[in-house]
Amino acid sequence: MASRRDLPSVDRVLLDERIAGLIARHSRPIVVAAVRDALAVARSATRAGTTASPIAEIVSDAVGRIEARDQPSLRRVINGTGVIIQTNLGRAPLSREAAEAAAAIGSGYSTLEYDVERGERGSRTTHMSRLLTTLTGAEAALAVNNNAAAVLLALAALARGRDVIIARGQLVEIGGGFRIPDVLAQSGARLVEVGTTNRTYARDYVEAIGDSTAAILRVHPSNFRVVGFTHESQLSELAEIARDRGILLIDDLGSGSLIDTSRFGLEHEPTIADSITEGADVVCFSGDKLLGGPQAGIIVGRSREIERVARHPFARAMRLDKMTIAAMEATLRHYERGEAIEKVPVWRMIGASVVEIEARARTWGNALADRGINSEVRSGRSAVGGGSLPGATLPTFVLALTSPIGLDRGSAFLRGRPLALIARVEHDRLVIDPRTIDPADDGVVLNHLLELSGL
Ligand SMILES: *Cc1c(COP(=O)(O)O)cnc(C)c1O
Repeated sequence: MASRRDLPSVDRVLLDERIAGLIARHSRPIVVAAVRDALAVARSATRAGTTASPIAEIVSDAVGRIEARDQPSLRRVINGTGVIIQTNLGRAPLSREAAEAAAAIGSGYSTLEYDVERGERGSRTTHMSRLLTTLTGAEAALAVNNNAAAVLLALAALARGRDVIIARGQLVEIGGGFRIPDVLAQSGARLVEVGTTNRTYARDYVEAIGDSTAAILRVHPSNFRVVGFTHESQLSELAEIARDRGILLIDDLGSGSLIDTSRFGLEHEPTIADSITEGADVVCFSGDKLLGGPQAGIIVGRSREIERVARHPFARAMRLDKMTIAAMEATLRHYERGEAIEKVPVWRMIGASVVEIEARARTWGNALADRGINSEVRSGRSAVGGGSLPGATLPTFVLALTSPIGLDRGSAFLRGRPLALIARVEHDRLVIDPRTIDPADDGVVLNHLLELSGL
């Protein structure tokens, strides 16, 4: 069995050429600390009975630790999971134009709250409102930090101290522990639940309306699906009830799409324009789900209600940053120009051709085969994901391969590359779905896979 004496001293490791080079660029204490950490790991490995690590391995470990320190904590990764709107990986990637707009506005002064024509103070809410109203058919629009904020703000401004009627089947938890009943409570509105988990009828709403009713709230069940013996009232039915009784209809669409999802073989999702046409007074949706823009919560609807919302103190507390506004304006312009499917990454991925996806998977597979590495191109499903279309998937092709160091360590190895690749683990294989990978990163993916297979 190896003993501690087989391990080099700190000073011996510091003499190594690679380590000496690092001392020049980082401070000596940082390098010494990394060497100590690497030695500590090697020491516990020798105690556990494995042979002592050669000095080269200790040096590599120390170098890796110092390089990891240099990496930003928030950094780009390659999403090989096939889940398009992946909340943990940042939801919607921005279009090139949107990212460039954010960078350009972020690095200089701008017309954020300045009217250049008049040379006087302007409003930050005007930059997107024309685009939002044209694209949705709503009279007015306002954007805040995210959709949870949008719903909270809309309820606080329009229903504080009064009743809001909601179907029991729509009292959802959005994720991360955010529950609609809790949001309602924080807004100061009182929750009135109607119907049952699986069935709620128009008459349930009608019977619940009283003198203190401010609104009906409809919440899109974005992350689950009730099947079987179910009934949900149509939005148009609710709009008629709300109009007759002089109360508001607020629609939390969740994802909110400007494009008809049925064009891509997915189930038809009501678009934002559908909600407006069917008579919702206020519609809330996310900026970074199917809209494919930066994180934001958008509120569109009737001018009178949007003005009340904009005047509420929460509106100031939840307002958007200039870089977000820049990215959102650029994203909305893609829709206005009719180029969203080609330019907005979420739609480009949803609309990607299966033939091209298969060809990319085969290119990886063939390159691996050239080095004698086995892999397999299989048909599979990509998920739209991210609290958008519950359970909606698209046909895809994936590359499946085994890991010579086991699945857990193999996927950790891919995640540990300087540009991390997040793969899926399916049964005994690592699985990579090209759909959610920018073709510009295909070469990096192949290199990672070759490195892994060479271990
Ligand atoms: C996603 C979602 C939200 C929250 O939106 P964020 O932009 O994540 O804050 C609220 N309501 C519904 C129905 C959702 O799907």
